[in-house]
Parts: sequence; structure tokens; C-alpha cells
Amino acid sequence: MSVRVRFAPSPTGFMHVGNARTALFNFLFARHNNGTFILRIEDTDIERHSEEAVNVIYEALKWMGLNWDEGPDVGGEYGPYRQSERLDIYKKYVEELKGKGLVYECFCTPEELDTMRKEQLERGEPPRYTGKCRDLTEEEKERLRAEGRKPVLRFKVPEDRIISFNDLIKGEIEIHSRQLGGDFVIVRSNGMPVYNFVVVIDDALMKISHVIRGEDHISNTPKQILLYEALGFPVPQFAHLPMILGTDRSKLSKRHGSTSVKEFRDKGYLSEAFTNFLALLGWYPKDGKEILSMEELIERFDIKDVNSAPAVFDTTKLNWMNQVYIRNYPIDKLTDLVIPYLEKAGYDVSKYDREWLEKVVEVTREYFTVLADAPIYMEMFLKDEFEVEEGAKEFVLEDETRLKVIENFYNRMKILEGELTPGIFKQIVKEVGKELKAKGKNLFMPVRIGLTGRMKGVELDILVSLLGKERVLRRIENSLKQLNEKSN
Ligand code: GLU
Repeated sequence: MSVRVRFAPSPTGFMHVGNARTALFNFLFARHNNGTFILRIEDTDIERHSEEAVNVIYEALKWMGLNWDEGPDVGGEYGPYRQSERLDIYKKYVEELKGKGLVYECFCTPEELDTMRKEQLERGEPPRYTGKCRDLTEEEKERLRAEGRKPVLRFKVPEDRIISFNDLIKGEIEIHSRQLGGDFVIVRSNGMPVYNFVVVIDDALMKISHVIRGEDHISNTPKQILLYEALGFPVPQFAHLPMILGTDRSKLSKRHGSTSVKEFRDKGYLSEAFTNFLALLGWYPKDGKEILSMEELIERFDIKDVNSAPAVFDTTKLNWMNQVYIRNYPIDKLTDLVIPYLEKAGYDVSKYDREWLEKVVEVTREYFTVLADAPIYMEMFLKDEFEVEEGAKEFVLEDETRLKVIENFYNRMKILEGELTPGIFKQIVKEVGKELKAKGKNLFMPVRIGLTGRMKGVELDILVSLLGKERVLRRIENSLKQLNEKSN
């Protein structure tokens, strides 16, 4: 049997990391098994869904590198792939269930259902629909209709049955039909079919072989199995993925920080790092290798190795992975990714020579955790008109040699002929130290402050060689002006 899996998100306007992980595991499973990865949009809840929300899903999947073989935009043999376009199909199966006598109209109002529930709870019973409308006569139904009531359609749950399935991750699961909360709704009073019903029709007609989804859907599975059986469809294999928790072991939520794919993307996580990190949420490769490309993930991924215990979303680990990816990324591609962050920080990037910019990215990238850090570390290279930090000013003015160091360095720079290499820079600093009898902190720190206005940052020899003599001079002039103002 060929492997066919689907990712079936509802377009809510954002892609939660839990959904992204579900999409990824479906994708890896499909690719590992030379199967088909299908995207289906579950948008029966029409009022809430907009085109924009569907685009959010496309964007997130594309960014993560999860291309689908069948879907609303690419088509396929089993379409349409949007539930809102499949309503006629669902109607046909509603009729089939009616014909088999497996569904009935229920006229109970939300208030009546609520009372029913409260009474059950008071008696210490688990809430369930009692089946009150199961045997209404035609006359009774007419009377209720005449009252203006609009019925829902309920599926008759067998009284005494054990429903079992062998989950590929959770193992053997058994649920008694009495635990399902009674006959459940498959069509709402407004005529819209509900998730548990349409998902079965779609998975069956799209010939889905494995349903891989979050474990929050385990409680739906028995209901779905009853519907597969009622409609005479083969039941697919199920694999329910473990929950994702925050580091405090509570369910991952906004409280833990970012939860949508777009937020991670905007902060400047590389898609490769993010995807690699998500792959390790609940799964771990047998060989223990953690940094894995998509090809390596596909090669190693085995659904049997997915852990049934909850996975912890550890941002520290994600940050570490992102750093690893940033350090090893092709420099031209990394520069492309960094540019929007520079522009956002107000730099006119067109001013800089591309090759020069790449060199700056090369020498600063080891300091980035996320791409949004790039302007902070690159500023030292990009901005000549900086403000000398207060602490740095105080440091220089504490000891008169320090200011002299900057001036002496400036004068020597001015008469320099030829290229300013890291070696020449070191030589000049050495000479300054000799002449003024300054060393260590009294020598290097003033030079750093003169060049950058700060007491911390990248290696100075690299900085000056990338700046060149003219920009070095302008920078020192700028710093000296501020330092002299302060000393007067
Ligand atoms: N639309 C459902 C969700 O987003 C799909 C569940 C399923 O995969 O069956 O949770």
C-alpha cells in the first residue's frame, strides 16, 4: 500500500509551532517512505476563515521547506483540497448514513443540553447526550419544527462496544463506546457538517494511509473509527504525536514567548535551524546526531522512534542550533538574509559594497544568536558617526595617558602610507605604547574607544582592516571631539 499522509490545518491566521511540527513529521514520513504529502485546508468554519489566513499556512510551510504534492493550489487527483469546496460530497454521505438509519435529528436546545449536563454532574455521572431525540415520531418532529427549532444530526453510538486501535506511537488504545459522551453531532443546526465527520470522509476519499496528528485528537479517533465502519471505509493507521510543553512543563503557550512560525521567522531564526529543532521535538535519531539537514532528517526519520512522552520546547537549545547554522551558512546567502534586518534598523544598504558587506557579516556572525542581532554587531562597521558611551568617556578621562594614546594613534594613522592590514595596525599600536609607556588596558581600550565609542566588540585588527584608513581617521576625529568636549 502506498503511503499517503496529510497535514490538515484550520486557517486560524497563524501557524502554531505544534502544527508546524505535525506538518514536518507528516512530510518526513512521506518522503522517507517515498509517499505523498497532501495539504488539506479544513475551513468548514467559514466565517472565521479568510484568504489571508490560508496564505499564512502556505508561507509557513514554504519557509520550512515542506513542499506538498497535492493541495488546493497544486491540485491533485483527489481534490478539491479545501473542505469549503467539498460540501456536496459531505451531503452525499449524510444521506447514506440516513439511509442506513445510523443518524437522527435532535431538537434539543443548548439550554436543554446544559440542564441535562448539570443534572448528570450532580448525580456524579460523566456528562453525555442521553439519546432523548433518538426515537421521536414524525409528529413530534413536526411539532418541534413548528416551534422554530432547527435540528442537528446525531450519529448513533453503539451501546456496548470496545473500540480499539493500534497507535504507531502510543501503542494499543481501547475505549468503550459508553465513554464517548453519547450520540455525537455530525451536522450542525445551520447545516454545516462537523470536523469528526468530514475528516473521515476526506481521509477515506483521499486514500490517506496514515493519520499523523497531535495527541489532542486521540479522543476523536474512536468516533472517527465508528464513522469509517458505518460508511464501509477502510480504517487508516493512526499516529498521535506527543504534546509540546514549555520548560516549566506546562502546555506551550504565549506565556512561554513566541509560539507562531512567523514570530520565529521574524526574529531571525534560520528556517533550517528551526526545522531541525522541531524535528527533535518528540523524535531523536538513533545515531544521536543533532544537527541534521532536511535530507539527513528524511533519511533517518522513523515514526516508530517517536517518543510518546511530551516534548519540551527549549529555547536555549533552539538558540544554540541557530548559532550553529548561522556560523556554517554560505556567506552570500546569510548576507541576503541579514540585509532586511539592516534596512529595518535604518541602514541604507545600497551604500555598501556587496563584497565588503559580506566580509563584515563573516567577521561578526559568530556573535549572532538570531539574525535580528546582526545590526547590533555590524553597527561597529557600518556607523562612523557614533556616540561615545558614557562609561567609555569616563574611562578615557580617568587617566591622561589614555587620551594621549588616542591622539598618538591618530597621528600615526594619518601619516600611514599603503594598506592598513591587521599586521600594520598591531605594529602602530605597539609603537604608540612604546612612546607613551602605555600597555594592556591603558593601550588597547583607548584605541577601541577611539575607533568604536565602546569598551566591547569585535577584534580591532579585523575592524580597522575592513574600515580602511580614511574611515578610521574620521572615526577617531569623531571620538576625540566628544572626549575633548567632555574634558573641558
Ligand atoms: N483541522 C484539524 C486541526 O487543525 C485537523 C486534525 C486532524 O489532523 O485530523 O487540528
